[in-house]
Amino acid sequence: MTERETFFADVILPAAVPNTFTYRVPFELAEYMRKGLRVVVPFGRSKVLTGIVANVHAKVPEYRTKYIYEVLDEQPMVTEIQLDFFKWVAEYYMCHAGEVLTVALPSGLKISSESRVQAHPDFDLEATTFELKEKESMLMEMLKENDHMSFSEVAERLSVKSIYHIIKGLLEKEAIIVFESLKEKYKPMLEKRVRLSADYLSEESLEVLMAKLEKKPKQLNVLLRYLQKIPVFQDKTVNEQGIKKKDLEAAGVSVSSLKTLEKQGVFELFDQEVSRLAEGSSDSDTEFELSEEQAKAKGEILTAFESKDVVLFKGVTGSGKTEIYMELIQHVLDGGGQVLYLLPEIALTGQIVNRLKRFFGDRLGVYHSKFSDNERVEVWKGVLSGRFQIVVGVRSSVFLPFDSLGLIVVDECHENSFKQYDPAPRYNAVDAAMVLAKKHHAKILLGSATPSVEQYYLAKKGIYGLVKLDKRFGDAQMPSIVFANTRLERKKKTLKGEFTSVLLEKINETVGRKEQVILFQNRRGYSPYMSCDECAHIPECPQCSVSLTYHMYRDELLCHYCGHRQGVPKTCPACGSNEMRTVGFGTEKLEEEANLFLPEARVRRMDLDTTKGKHSYQIIIREFSEGEIDILLGTQMVSKGFDFGNVSLVGVFGVDRMLNFPDFRAHERAYQLITQVSGRAGRRADREGMVVIQTANPDQETLRQVVYGDFEDLYASEIKEREMFRYPPFFRLIRVVFKSEDPKVCERAASFYSQLLKEKLRPSRVSNAHEPVISKIRNQYLREVLVRIERTGVKLGKVKAFMREQAEVIKAERKQFKGIRINFDPDPN
Ligand code: ADP
Ligand code: ZN
Ligand code: ZN
Repeated sequence: MTERETFFADVILPAAVPNTFTYRVPFELAEYMRKGLRVVVPFGRSKVLTGIVANVHAKVPEYRTKYIYEVLDEQPMVTEIQLDFFKWVAEYYMCHAGEVLTVALPSGLKISSESRVQAHPDFDLEATTFELKEKESMLMEMLKENDHMSFSEVAERLSVKSIYHIIKGLLEKEAIIVFESLKEKYKPMLEKRVRLSADYLSEESLEVLMAKLEKKPKQLNVLLRYLQKIPVFQDKTVNEQGIKKKDLEAAGVSVSSLKTLEKQGVFELFDQEVSRLAEGSSDSDTEFELSEEQAKAKGEILTAFESKDVVLFKGVTGSGKTEIYMELIQHVLDGGGQVLYLLPEIALTGQIVNRLKRFFGDRLGVYHSKFSDNERVEVWKGVLSGRFQIVVGVRSSVFLPFDSLGLIVVDECHENSFKQYDPAPRYNAVDAAMVLAKKHHAKILLGSATPSVEQYYLAKKGIYGLVKLDKRFGDAQMPSIVFANTRLERKKKTLKGEFTSVLLEKINETVGRKEQVILFQNRRGYSPYMSCDECAHIPECPQCSVSLTYHMYRDELLCHYCGHRQGVPKTCPACGSNEMRTVGFGTEKLEEEANLFLPEARVRRMDLDTTKGKHSYQIIIREFSEGEIDILLGTQMVSKGFDFGNVSLVGVFGVDRMLNFPDFRAHERAYQLITQVSGRAGRRADREGMVVIQTANPDQETLRQVVYGDFEDLYASEIKEREMFRYPPFFRLIRVVFKSEDPKVCERAASFYSQLLKEKLRPSRVSNAHEPVISKIRNQYLREVLVRIERTGVKLGKVKAFMREQAEVIKAERKQFKGIRINFDPDPN
């Protein structure tokens, strides 16, 4: 070591706080300190947090700095590209880098804030030459009785606010260990393996050993079996890894003989960290030849990549986009690059994951927010170590520590679940992926049968490349689409419950042919609300401004926003009449009616309520694919990515409501959903697919566009409206949401803010404060201000910085605004 310079580290903490925090680096840690390492630091009065080092320098800050307590890694856990990327996400999505880190880093990599302290095993309270202060000795006494204690426990028992000077004092005296017992939630799973002791690795010693075991055939058998599996004679290095103890035992050796040999020191047992992720079998019998059209599309994509970084691949449902992705991915992997395959929701696309797993085997990591944290940590580490060259994941996988991405595939790129709504960062993973791709000089492929209007606009303008595939794979035809007119059938009294006679007949025919049916209604529960026939009263959630949904199974009214539940009123709470009835229908009611009108058919419902268990989703899918279910009925869960060859009929409910939804994307969304769910029908050449759409008004333009697959027409009418009403892609929207328990304060703050922005940003860009469609959630009143920024010619970063500044101005302006929450939602859904 040379001279002892003092270093400081700027640390990003996983918290909703601005900027980085500077800590002093203890001398003994100075030489290890690097960007991207995790460090444990004190924060605030009594907290301990794990942060990421963003910078190391020798510039003495103006304020007194605290010490870093501990470094958790030898190698950076976060790469420089990631640090850069997190910064971009924070700026673009108008939040703090710490909030990005909170979402980005699996919690298993963040030591829980309940840090623990234990006595140093070498410390002897009686024999120490140090003079301990009163509180210090008290803590040491306490630690005699307790193996370890949390910081908060210590603080409480010592009745002090901050224990850090005590901790620090004892640390300096080497009396305690603070982080040894901190439980990093990540616990590697260990596997018992055996190998030959080093003494027996030479040929001579092995021969001597074998001679010795001549008279002990069982023990000899163990040795021979081992050598058979692990050919040490040919290559000594293979011994290092040894063999799974279980595998050796399974090879038919005597367990007790193995134990004896262990005792004699012939074999040694050791633990090895193993993956918790189920290993995929990599039988590659599933390799397909691309069809002529597919090969052509693939060629066009490659050509487009020569001049464009982003290519939009618009291929009809069932055209075999996945196969094409796989070839493109293979290409990149062969060249040594990494690949990220983004999906809107993994649970909904298990089939695709299986296909990829079969194809790419162990190189494939799956990253999913529903995974246990241990599994997520493992994927994180596997990407760092190079074990996983390809990751399939949901939106948060853009935060993984890639170092050489060559390609990002975004499957179903139109899906709105790529956008996170809460908490911050309210990021859109597709847009973020484009920025990420740029940082890696990687290409990005957006794939969908129904791209968003924005994506298609950029493709048509030539900013993205555009490749189309308009034919299904093989001889499979697009399904034919017919309407069933609910209004006419109601008049003719042929409507049974919510089912038209047309749909019922088709279902009967289909089930009779032993083919399968998918029914789609994008509402769960029995009926979306109850209403009084006398006075029209509708029971609402006491905490939210929404009506309560009736769930028959539980015989309860349930709020889908806050989870509030209550009993079903027998009489009207407003006028006392007995005429309360359910209105409208959700999946639960359809299920009841399907069972009633189609008694022969086996019906299963798939929605949020029936898929709560960890495996329930997979079970339904398996039963459906094995033909144990005739009719699968559900919310948009049934619309996505399913590839079941035996489905020949799809019934679509509730389209009128979708089309009349008060949102500028309503038509686009309806087109996408109906097209996607229709695309589940007739995916094999031997089955003709049919779709029945129930509607009161078959003449609606969007429905016509769905029937003819006329995306161009949909696009043409949508883009005109977008331009006229100043919506994306022509303008970028930023929604600012105000939240407060007091509706008046909320209103005032939002109006004031709108005023402030109008003065500086031009009135036409800023809306008045207004109530969102749902104006109260969990007793928090909501108000919104919508800001529109031209797509070009405006310094977006500056506008955003200004908007954030003004939010602070508001909070400081009046006392009553202090507690108000202001959220920014750039590019809202
Ligand atoms: P998309 O994602 O475009 O809707 P898929 O990738 O799911 O379509 O493909 C539809 C079906 O056709 C799948 O069952 C798939 O295995 C099959 N398929 C697609 N391309 C090929 C091919 N080249 N050879 C054999 N089967 C294919
Ligand atoms: Zn009433
Ligand atoms: Zn509620």
